[in-house]
Amino acid sequence: MTIFEKIIAREIPAPLLYEDEFCVAFNDANPQAPIHVLIVPRKVIPRVGEAEAEDQATLGALLLAAGKVANQLGIKDISKGFRLVINHGRDGGETVPHLHVHLLAGRPLEWPPG
Ligand code: 5GP
Repeated sequence: MTIFEKIIAREIPAPLLYEDEFCVAFNDANPQAPIHVLIVPRKVIPRVGEAEAEDQATLGALLLAAGKVANQLGIKDISKGFRLVINHGRDGGETVPHLHVHLLAGRPLEWPPG
């Protein structure tokens, strides 16, 4: 069981910023920006490249949830903004094998990323 499954099961406390039938959102424990939220599907999909056609609704829900969280946090306006990141595998920087979208904001983010 990954740490994210334990958070979803409420075995580990983490205040939820958002939840719906497909996913939950909570603050990253090691934030890389003033705002760093993780949006995590309730279904355990190890990583984005392993999602199947049957996961289409879940994948869509993650992006819709990101927009809702951004709106809640007051960063949806393009005068502010945010970045979404999904890490896949070693070179992608994945550390938790349970698909999640990082929502980063609160400072200008550099491009290209490191
Ligand atoms: P990845 O590197 O797999 O893309 O992202 C995993 C993220 O999960 C990291 O940003 C890390 O800080 C975060 N994380 C790891 N363990 C925990 C935890 O127990 N609680 C929370 N809220 N975030 C965690």
